Amino acid sequence: MNNKVISVRPYQLMCLICRAGRRNREEYYFEDRLEHLALLIRENINRPLLLTCNCVSAYAWQNPGREYDTPEGPEFNDRRDLAILRELNMVPGAAQPASDIIRKFFKHIKTCEDICALGKYCSAVWRECKFAGSGNYERAVEAGEAGIISPCRSADELACCKQASAAQLYKEKKLRIRPHHLVCIACIVAGRKPCEMEVLDVDNACEIADIIQKHPDIPVELVSGPCMVCPPCAGYSPEHNLCNAGIGMGLRDEKKDLDALMLLGMKFGDVLPGGELYRKLFAVLDSTRNLCGRGRSPAKVDEWISCGADSKDSYLKSKAAKLHIPGI
Ligand code: SF4
Ligand code: SF4
Repeated sequence: MNNKVISVRPYQLMCLICRAGRRNREEYYFEDRLEHLALLIRENINRPLLLTCNCVSAYAWQNPGREYDTPEGPEFNDRRDLAILRELNMVPGAAQPASDIIRKFFKHIKTCEDICALGKYCSAVWRECKFAGSGNYERAVEAGEAGIISPCRSADELACCKQASAAQLYKEKKLRIRPHHLVCIACIVAGRKPCEMEVLDVDNACEIADIIQKHPDIPVELVSGPCMVCPPCAGYSPEHNLCNAGIGMGLRDEKKDLDALMLLGMKFGDVLPGGELYRKLFAVLDSTRNLCGRGRSPAKVDEWISCGADSKDSYLKSKAAKLHIPGI
């Protein structure tokens, strides 16, 4: 995987999105550069992008110069880049996987108003972008992020993978599970008996619960990163064995894994029978709040938001029922 860091002006990513919404083949500024960027991101949606823009404050260390300024003038260019960074909750010099930055555009910048479109503030000195009123950007946002960071796998491929990976699970002599997925599995089962669970297409959580319920002695190894739950998940990238499910998802899951290990007093590579592992987990974890939203204060940025299951009592139902694992 090519992980070479690419320096990019924030506005160029916005123009990349805008360009995906054009109705004709109208020429954008620095068309070749935009095409090249689009290609680099398609090749590897996790390619790190370093956001650079011109400023005079303590952030000036990363100033890229005027090479890629568009013709509206330096003030317009600088303001546009800073306006974008503010909406994305980022700063000049920040670097992040392309997929996360692009998703943040789609989440936080729905229109180019007050960024590239200046409305009543247009003047002889302050010109807006020639595409500001085109609706191209808004159209692309409406069409969704798949236009820029296309999903790695088709629906057919996911369905095949679900069938094959679930069938394979029942043949395994040992399960490999990332620590916080033990809690996700309990949340998904939500206290139901095996016969009451409907199998999910989106992951292998129910199958793993079913196997541990039927065979509490099956060894479970605690692994780092994506595990046997993940293969049919649309957010899973088999090529890179990475979770790409949402902004910062793979990153905050790493923290949850380490938090789960800390609570269990275990480390990656440790192996315990599935039933014993759940007995330990239910003894130490009273609420998903102590894992999924663990931190000194509620998360303030997209990358660290808590799982929506925080407020639900699904985990508690499974804990009360001991996940219907016999003998624990
Ligand atoms: S309106 Fe202009 S500056 Fe704004 S995203 Fe579109 S092309 Fe880029
Ligand atoms: S790929 Fe990510 S979101 Fe999907 S099941 Fe695995 S960890 Fe969860």
